Amino acid sequence: MRLFLFVFASLVALASHGADKPKNIIYVISDGMGPVYTTGYRYFADDKSTPKVDKTVFDRLHVGSASTYPAAISGVVTDSAAAATALSTGVKSYNGAIGVDVDKKNIPTILEMAKQKGMKTGVAVTSQVNHATPAAFITHNESRKNYNEIAESYFDQRIDGQFTADVILGGGTQYFQREDRDLVGEFIGAGYEYVNNIDDLPSVQPDKPLLGLFAPVGLPWALDYPQKKRLLHLAQAAVKSLENDKGFFLLVEASQVDWAGHANDVAAAMGEMADLAETLEWLEAYVDNNPDTLLVVTADHSTGGISLARDRAYIWKPEFIHKLEHSPAIIAQKLVLKPAGVQREKLAKQLLPLEFEDEELAALKKLTPVDQQSAYNWVKSVIDRETHTGWTTGGHTAVDVPVLAKGLGADAFIGHQDNTEIAKKLIRVLP
Ligand code: MG
Ligand code: ZN
Repeated sequence: MRLFLFVFASLVALASHGADKPKNIIYVISDGMGPVYTTGYRYFADDKSTPKVDKTVFDRLHVGSASTYPAAISGVVTDSAAAATALSTGVKSYNGAIGVDVDKKNIPTILEMAKQKGMKTGVAVTSQVNHATPAAFITHNESRKNYNEIAESYFDQRIDGQFTADVILGGGTQYFQREDRDLVGEFIGAGYEYVNNIDDLPSVQPDKPLLGLFAPVGLPWALDYPQKKRLLHLAQAAVKSLENDKGFFLLVEASQVDWAGHANDVAAAMGEMADLAETLEWLEAYVDNNPDTLLVVTADHSTGGISLARDRAYIWKPEFIHKLEHSPAIIAQKLVLKPAGVQREKLAKQLLPLEFEDEELAALKKLTPVDQQSAYNWVKSVIDRETHTGWTTGGHTAVDVPVLAKGLGADAFIGHQDNTEIAKKLIRVLP
């Protein structure tokens, strides 16, 4: 009888997770991170005191690549909504679609399926939490632009009577604390713990569902945080909060690699990549300590058409970016809002420690306090000139993206695949 019970209990354990199925799934999407970003980060992070170019966590975890094209109606260049829908459901849709197919019908997402299977679920992102990528995992909407509706659905939607996500971390108070609806208050009333300061994350109760909103919209650039990181703290808190006997599904998004790409801001891009790299190093160690966890990392598309050289010069040198104490956007703000009596050229030299060219100095003199965008463009052009960085678009490109994986089931992601196959492979290993 005792043996029978033991065998029975083992079979139940096998059926719930399966010997070959991971207990936990951590799915990392780096928005906009085409292969040029992982290559660029390798040179940016390289220790110059050794002759070899050091491998990074992106190199260590690399297993393959993925195509990203959306449903045919949207051509071959995807947006983040269609790509996130492909990555969350295995179905290609039109640009703008949030968890719906080309007929605008809801498609079940892997996060919802994980919830149905009894796993805990969460998202940890650096954009607003109702932005396209996390939205396409938690909810369904015909348009990514319906930010308020998407935020409301996070509270209103139920999966088998339960809230869809147990942990929601990122930005977005503007959408969750509105005149017409206080979703933060509603989440608190429903038993969620709420935090609005990243420093408070380590002390949250691990057995309570968690909502953390740390900015009105997206979070500030990684470069403008102490130690230039914040995604690491979000991911650590999410994992700690989600750990339980039945396993968890967590989406981590480095949302702002894409925003740096749209802005053609190589310094911000490397700052976002460094924050992500530290997060991945921590997750890599987590999987080493928890080998029943599967970690999969990819991007939804590439952004900006970034080029590691320009103007026919065989040079790309990102080292200068390490000297910056603020993001280019904040440097621009400081330059135009400088206190009276401070010489702008002197301030510029402090904030951007390099030799300016005559044309740059002339343009710097012309900046006025109402001209923050011109100041930002000026700072970026100086950094591009110094690092020899090129850009071909303010939008997305159709290039394939890297796929990284580690842990139980990682072998399934080796080689080339379509983005929909990543979702299908992950859905297959749910309990
Ligand atoms: Mg995104
Ligand atoms: Zn984008």
